[in-house]
Amino acid sequence: MAYDFDLFVIGAGSGGVRAARFAAGFGAKVAVAESRYLGGTCVNVGCVPKKLLVYGAHVADELEQAAGFGWTLEEGHFDWGTLIANKNREIERLNGIYRNLLVNSGVTLLQGHAYITGAHEVEVEGQRYSAEHILIATGGWPQVPDIPGKELAITSNEAFYLKELPRRVLVVGGGYIAVEFAGIFQGLGADTTLLYRGDLFLRGFDGSVRTHLKEELQKRGLDLQFNADIQRIDQQDDGSLKAILKDGRELIADCVFYATGRRPMLDNLGLENTGVELDARGFIRVDEQYQTTEPSIIAIGDVIGRVQLTPVALAEGMAVARRLFKPEQYRAVDYQNIPTAVFSQPPIGTVGLTEEQALEAGHKVQIFESRFRAMKLTLTDIQEKTLMKLVVDAETDKVLGCHMVGPDAGEIIQGLGVALKAGATKQQFDETIGVHPTAAEEFVTMRTATR
Ligand code: FAD
Ligand code: NDP
Repeated sequence: MAYDFDLFVIGAGSGGVRAARFAAGFGAKVAVAESRYLGGTCVNVGCVPKKLLVYGAHVADELEQAAGFGWTLEEGHFDWGTLIANKNREIERLNGIYRNLLVNSGVTLLQGHAYITGAHEVEVEGQRYSAEHILIATGGWPQVPDIPGKELAITSNEAFYLKELPRRVLVVGGGYIAVEFAGIFQGLGADTTLLYRGDLFLRGFDGSVRTHLKEELQKRGLDLQFNADIQRIDQQDDGSLKAILKDGRELIADCVFYATGRRPMLDNLGLENTGVELDARGFIRVDEQYQTTEPSIIAIGDVIGRVQLTPVALAEGMAVARRLFKPEQYRAVDYQNIPTAVFSQPPIGTVGLTEEQALEAGHKVQIFESRFRAMKLTLTDIQEKTLMKLVVDAETDKVLGCHMVGPDAGEIIQGLGVALKAGATKQQFDETIGVHPTAAEEFVTMRTATR
């Protein structure tokens, strides 16, 4: 049967654009439908604008350090409106780049909401299109617990477009987004409290990293409240918000920001017209090749809830394009040793197993850990410490995990990701010549196991 398209991609985000462009490059006839914004979450309300705000907040650190290097600066003044306007301009530029990327690679771009009407059929703006394969790459959406007053709270979606920087912010959650935005709000001058329901935030990260970041954030004056959760939010007469905690305490703020995870974006997608099934957590169920339970429908990225990171969605998109249209180049995505950063202040960089995961997997581990004050701070009064940690298999000498909290952690950990992928041993780390003077060289000079 002749279809309108070989591949119909729903969602022009990280995964969808990558799959569409490469599929078209391999000679397939491809369409992409996008209902909201080109580039998806990462470009519009995720990685990119977040990192720009993190840079903005980090300027405060540079200003604080300046005096130690002999600079006398006049009292600085921060204008939220300027930062947001400049950020918006940059995002618009990127939207244009994404449009050109798609159109120039021969992809048919359809603007509008896509609704699946059958195993090979999608409707956009009243028009039906048939396709041999349909790729669902619709991403995710913030999830706020169902508490009274939840409509008074904002999520990352709204935070990027706030008219003003709130004076007092309550950040709820203990994952990537909560920790990053707590740093943004506090760095830009808001009085910020982070509320996390458990004993210690960043569950799943290495224990030393979690504790170290907690201490550093507290040194910076961030109010960290663990074992704390909001029961209800009330609007006050003066426009402020009152958060009543489960333990009965009351906190007043101008903004309550929820970062309590993301659900798959399946709204009005038409899955009921297909054999696509969901997993126990509500994400689209796929096999190792991203095949759903409907043979003609594939799904990748945040909507399958595996690893919700842009480079992972990109890799999955690439794998799908190759499998369908260039099978001789197909390689499965390797989910081992995915490097990742949390752009907190100071940031975290991590790749490989945590100490806890290594022990749980039955490894006999050797731990190398170093805490030091970065050279840049020695001319200042700032007492921030950097943490570096290696988790090593005591029997094979293989480095199982590298973890860092400190300036440029994301930049440093990327290279170590290559080393772990290549299966580097601790001896090979030791035999690598350091770059001096840097903080990164500490990763190749930790000679004595701390435990
Ligand atoms: P998305 O990028 O979300 O794209 C999905 C697209 O589908 C959207 O454009 C949406 O409008 C569209 N769509 C949905 N339904 C339909 C429909 N029915 N019809 C048509 N179009 C539809 N990851 C990192 O690696 N590093 C970071 O620093 C980072 N920071 C982040 C910060 C925040 C605040 C957030 C929220 C996320 C961050 N992420 C980060 C995660 C990253 O953004 C996601 O993992 C990534 O965008 C997932 O890509 P995707 O292709 O699955 O979906
Ligand atoms: P995460 O899944 O990372 O964290 C969610 C947090 O909210 C956890 O601390 C969780 O607690 C808590 N939580 C969940 N439900 C509730 C509830 N009902 N009440 C109170 N607390 C709750 O989600 P995020 O929203 O932070 O981010 C989504 C994903 O986006 C990340 O996992 C990451 O993959 C990606 N991302 C990546 C970034 C990067 O690469 N730098 C930056 C931002 C996002 P508990 O641990 O107890 O379950």
